[in-house]
Amino acid sequence: MSDDYWSERYGDLEGIASTTRGRCHLCHENVVLALYGRTGLFGGDTVTVDHLEPQVFGGDDDADNLRIAHGNCNSLRGVKDPEAIRLALAGTTDEPLSDTAFNLLSVGGSVAVGVAAGHAFASTNQRGEREFNQAAAWVAGLLTFAFTRELY
Ligand SMILES: [Zn+2]
Repeated sequence: MSDDYWSERYGDLEGIASTTRGRCHLCHENVVLALYGRTGLFGGDTVTVDHLEPQVFGGDDDADNLRIAHGNCNSLRGVKDPEAIRLALAGTTDEPLSDTAFNLLSVGGSVAVGVAAGHAFASTNQRGEREFNQAAAWVAGLLTFAFTRELY
């Protein structure tokens, strides 16, 4: 646990941000935790903590009710259903993947692509048998892994 980004009220901000891989749970864009503060302190990019279940409806400060959001996005949402705001801002009702889910998906996807490439570039050996192309599998798998890290 890092205490670089710490909120008196919510504790470890990086822990909360990891739920959505450091992205605003409403617009899916990255947030800069150094800009944490009350809404508007650093303009629209101010980082705030949003309650999935709004406090006025009884939402508490438990970690599973807390998400990172830009001040602007948080204000836009107000106490409305987060899914409608996500659809408007990010084109999906889902929140960004968590660190854990993303890592599983990235590794799993890379392995799948690698295996597919190994079969696609299979060669025929002297006995006329198809041989899985390990080099192609590794290259394709690692490239896919690198791409998913860059792009998402
Ligand atoms: Zn946002």
